[in-house]
Amino acid sequence: MSKIKIAELFYSIQGEGRYMGVPSVFLRTFGCNFKCAGFGMPRDKISIEADDIAYTHANIESFMKYEDLPLVSTGCDSYASWHPAFKDLSPMLTSDAIVERTMEILPGNQWGDAHLVITGGEPLLGWQRAYPDLLNHPKMAGLKEITFETNGTQKLSEEFKEYLLQWQMPNMDFAREVTFSVSAKLPCSGEKWEEAILPEVVCEYEDVGTAYLKFVIATEQDFKDAECAIGAYRAAGFTGHIYLMPVGGVESVYTLNNRTVADLAMKNGLRYSDRLQVPLFKNEWGT
Ligand code: SF4
Repeated sequence: MSKIKIAELFYSIQGEGRYMGVPSVFLRTFGCNFKCAGFGMPRDKISIEADDIAYTHANIESFMKYEDLPLVSTGCDSYASWHPAFKDLSPMLTSDAIVERTMEILPGNQWGDAHLVITGGEPLLGWQRAYPDLLNHPKMAGLKEITFETNGTQKLSEEFKEYLLQWQMPNMDFAREVTFSVSAKLPCSGEKWEEAILPEVVCEYEDVGTAYLKFVIATEQDFKDAECAIGAYRAAGFTGHIYLMPVGGVESVYTLNNRTVADLAMKNGLRYSDRLQVPLFKNEWGT
């Protein structure tokens, strides 16, 4: 039976993108290929190493569970889902155990109108081979919509592509809608353009589901970078929607620029994505 290292498994409202407002189970896998140390940093400090960020100086031993971890205003706001210092907070669970816990947290123990968000970390990094076991589980039969929240750098394996494509076949007993919510990392993340903006990878996601791009914006320079990236994705044949989303893992930062980013989106005919988890739940772990 397949196992997945799970950072968090919780029920909440999707705060971002296409499914904003939809009741959702969040399955946060452990591990990421990036660090995104630059978020919230001034441009001239962006080259700092992730290990210099305040959260790694926190007294890690004093945190026994995710809910107790501090929120951060710089760097990756889900740092504990990939930073090795927190790996012991994330158990390796069998697909049976994940499904049992999932059914427990769903209202009425059924999927109803809820959807599944597989997030991270980077959920397409190493777990692609484990998802069929999980999604084929009989108790998951009521699940009709799945979103992978990815940074758009991981190719899909041939086996996983084939697996996802089956739900689009007319002779299938039931259809499932698969969405790739691609948060492509601009230079403000601190990651290198050539490693973060990979249009050919994201175009492949469109072969097996719906894909959209989501750019985190704090400054005018970020928007200029987003425009460049959009040009590259479109040139490669990407047809999906584009969202601008304000930076802000903590409320004070989010409220500084959400209106500005909404205005930018309107002015440029792009979609705006809020981060509802910030005003509603303060972006706390488990929300
Ligand atoms: S890609 Fe996402 S999870 Fe990974 S470090 Fe960046 S913001 Fe965090």
